Parts: sequence; structure tokens; C-alpha cells
Amino acid sequence: MIIVLKKEATEEQIRHIMDTIRSWDLTPNLSRGTERSIIGVIGDERTIRGRPLEAFPGVDHVMTVLKPYKLASAEFRAERTVVRLPPVRAGEAPVAVGGRDVVVVAGPCSVENRDMLFEMAVFLKKAGVRLLRAGAFKPRTSPYAFQGLGVEGLRYLAEVRKEVGLPIITEVMDPRDVEMVGEVADVLQIGARNTQNFNLLKAVGRSSKPALLKRGISGTIEELLMSAEYILNEGNAGVILCERGIRTFEKATRNTLDVSAVPVVKKESHLPIMVDPSHGTGRWDLVAPMSLAAVAAGADGIMVEVHPNPEEALSDGAQALLPKTFEKLMESLRAVAAAVGRSV
Ligand code: PEP
Ligand code: MN
Repeated sequence: MIIVLKKEATEEQIRHIMDTIRSWDLTPNLSRGTERSIIGVIGDERTIRGRPLEAFPGVDHVMTVLKPYKLASAEFRAERTVVRLPPVRAGEAPVAVGGRDVVVVAGPCSVENRDMLFEMAVFLKKAGVRLLRAGAFKPRTSPYAFQGLGVEGLRYLAEVRKEVGLPIITEVMDPRDVEMVGEVADVLQIGARNTQNFNLLKAVGRSSKPALLKRGISGTIEELLMSAEYILNEGNAGVILCERGIRTFEKATRNTLDVSAVPVVKKESHLPIMVDPSHGTGRWDLVAPMSLAAVAAGADGIMVEVHPNPEEALSDGAQALLPKTFEKLMESLRAVAAAVGRSV
């Protein structure tokens, strides 16, 4: 249920509506916007049916939300969500995901060692990257494949973050690790294999760090938004969605990158959405064209894997861009972003 308030609704009228909703054992969620403010109501809506909400002073009209997700739905918030990251060091520009800037996230698939991570971070920062990605905990299909450096990898991420001044996004796989990973990460990544790990979603929902929530390997957009709902419902409003390709019958690519998920999500939800064309295609030669397509489609950011020597990468070498190819991509991204009224 959504209560749209009159533009001239007073603070006292809003308070009275909120208190009354609470007295019905429902949770009111006030969202203020410049054009309109709304109160979303969470809970068993049967309690509210038949109550003359339109009779309350300050109420303009009342709408029912038919979608299974509420906190994540576009109707539930007066304005689009912008996830803001405080600067890592004084003087650095803050990062805002969901605003005018298209935020470029890049880095190796995994933290392999300190030197390579440092080298990549320095290069990527110079190239205009706003967030460094690299996994310390790696969800691998095979138990025999490189599993990530774990805690040691986190330590390198913390050092590089501080020395280079780039915010970090890294994956958390276990609800018990959320606090520890959150001490290093500026954004907690939830991988495609964990999109419906509900205990992990709830734990991240209790963290003060924003989340990057990837679409499940065979997940629908509705399922993605329901997973976001778990995080939002625990009180964490900083959710960035990420399209990373889905499993289809097509074999030419590792996954089928669903670029249409971008405009669909923008219509259905107020949350920002990024695109990961590296996992989305599994092929380095397709990363640039699909990055450009993502920005043209309205993505708020892209996340790309870059490696100084893909032939020797410990994970996902086939989809990693060489630094010089990445530089060229940045140039094209700037042009496409400008064409759609945004900047990189
Ligand atoms: C990753 O970004 O490192 C990753 C493992 O991606 P995904 O969860 O989308 O497969
Ligand atoms: Mn990877």
C-alpha cells in the first residue's frame, strides 16, 4: 500500500498518519521527494483494507502495490536511489552510483598477490576507474580450482585501498564473514551463486556497507528484486543491482547478457543497476561492445575484469582485458556516455 501525500501536507499530519499506521501493527516507510512524498506501508495489508485513509488530512491518494517486492519497487520511493560512498582519503572525489556519472568498476577477477593488485590499482585509478574489484573469497565451480587467498587477500585489499585511495568492492560468500569483509570493503559483493542465499542477504542487510547484488545464474528479474527486498528489509538502503548474464541454450558465450534487464529494472525499481559484461559473455573480445551497449541502455555503471597477463590469470583469464585494451574502452565509454547525457 502506498499513500501519496499532498504537496502541502504538514509535519504534524504526516506524523499522525505514521502513528496511526503503527497502531495497526504495520510499518510506515516515509520517502521524501522534491515533487511528492510518499508513505509506503509494509505488513499484512488486510489490516488496512476498509480504513478510510483518504480521510486523513494531508493524504492525496492511496494505491495498492501488486508487486511481490515493495521496498525495491519504483512506486515505493519518491526518487531514485543514489548509493553514495564516502571518499577513501580526504580530497578524493566521492563515488555516487545511480547519479549522472556512469561508475566504472574494474580489476582482476581474484586477488592473486599484493604486487599485481597494487600495479592494477595504480593503473586503473589513473585510467578513471572509481572502484577497484577483486575477489579474496572466490566461488568456484570446481573445488580443485583456485579458491582465492581469503583473509590474506583481504589484507592486500585493505593495504592497496589505503595506499592508492581507491574504494574496494569484493565478494562475501558466508554470512559469518560479513563483518570482517565489511571492515575492508566499501561495497559488499553478493555473487550470482548466492543471490538466493537468504541468510547471507539478511546478514548483508544488517551491515552498514552498501551491497552489489548480482543477478542469479538462472534468476529472473523479479527474483533479483525479491533478493534486494531481503537486504532492504533489514535496513540497508544501499543496494546496487548487477546484471551479469543468465544461463540460456546459447553456447557462443559463457552466459547470455540480458541488456534489456537495465531498462526493465529502471522501470520496476528505484535501485541503481550496473552491468558486468565480463561474466556476462566470458569472452574478452565481447567486453567492450557489451559495455557500450550497457551504457547506451542506461546502466549506472559497468564492472569489468582487467589483468596484466590474462594468459597466466588464476581465474577467468579468457574474459580479462589487457590494460591497454581497457584504456581504449574507457575512451569509447566516455563518448557513449556523453551521447546519452551522462559522464564517465
Ligand atoms: C565475480 O564477479 O568475481 C564473480 C564471481 O561473478 P559472478 O558471481 O557474477 O559469477
Ligand atoms: Mn571472475
